[in-house]
Amino acid sequence: MLAPVPTNFDLHCHSAASDGVLTPAALVRRAAANGVQVLALTDHDELAGLAEAQAAAAECGVRFVPGVEISITWGGITIHVVGLGIDPRSDVLARGLAHVRASRARRAERIAAEFDRLGIPGTLAGAYAYAGNPNLVGRAHFARYLVEQGVARDVKSVFARFLVAGKPGYVPHEWATLADAVGWIRASGGRAVVAHPGRYSLGPERLRQFFVEFIAAGGEAVEVVTGSHTRAQYGEYARLAHELGLAASRGSDFHGPDESEIDLGALPPLPPGLKPVWHDWA
Ligand code: AMP
Ligand code: MN
Ligand code: MN
Ligand code: MN
Repeated sequence: MLAPVPTNFDLHCHSAASDGVLTPAALVRRAAANGVQVLALTDHDELAGLAEAQAAAAECGVRFVPGVEISITWGGITIHVVGLGIDPRSDVLARGLAHVRASRARRAERIAAEFDRLGIPGTLAGAYAYAGNPNLVGRAHFARYLVEQGVARDVKSVFARFLVAGKPGYVPHEWATLADAVGWIRASGGRAVVAHPGRYSLGPERLRQFFVEFIAAGGEAVEVVTGSHTRAQYGEYARLAHELGLAASRGSDFHGPDESEIDLGALPPLPPGLKPVWHDWA
């Protein structure tokens, strides 16, 4: 007998309401065309795309999960915490995210000042020209402007040379705390998930310490299968999920057709033996 085909869950992606390229509706239509059956939109620090995505999902017959990806600072580094099944009407969550977005705007001015100093002018206006949402500006918008200016050939190459710790155009930034982010997610009825753990520059002991604190704060899950993980990392974080009793998530982290190697819904299924983050979704 053939093994049953697993439902195609994609629980991490971005629209132009944050630093994705597609509108929320276009993103949902692409997900549907790719066979995604359950989709979470998880824009950075922003909920503005959820209503449009929800409406488009209803039209396409895709089950929609309202989500968010919150930027936090822990142990001096930036970590991303995804919230799944949040209530977009939650005041606690909305107020928290509004603070994070305001701090993004101030960071953008400091990034632009760095580029001015480097002799690359106009990056603040340039980044905002790429921001589909004037209230949410990020490094990806700077990167797109720098590509337009011929500073690098694509967004990936920009991030190899600029905008990251130790390279020009980087400014340190203090994001939300772990306790705040998980607290906002839980206050809005959502489930907190550590995004792409393979991307953080933490050794195994610090990473484990982070997870211990994440669980103590009320976090419940970890992304095991995600666009930036290797196959070896699927195994590594599957083991971690198992050991720590965390549920496991799957999400492409799709940002746009030309910027993401992994398309919506295109990842392999979760490794067997894990408790999926959707285990109790009706
Ligand atoms: P921010 O939250 O504004 O600091 O920007 C983080 C975002 O920048 C990520 O979500 C990606 O969209 C983008 N980004 C960071 N590093 C890279 C990279 N190496 N290649 C492509 N995009 C990146
Ligand atoms: Mn992004
Ligand atoms: Mn992220
Ligand atoms: Mn993301």
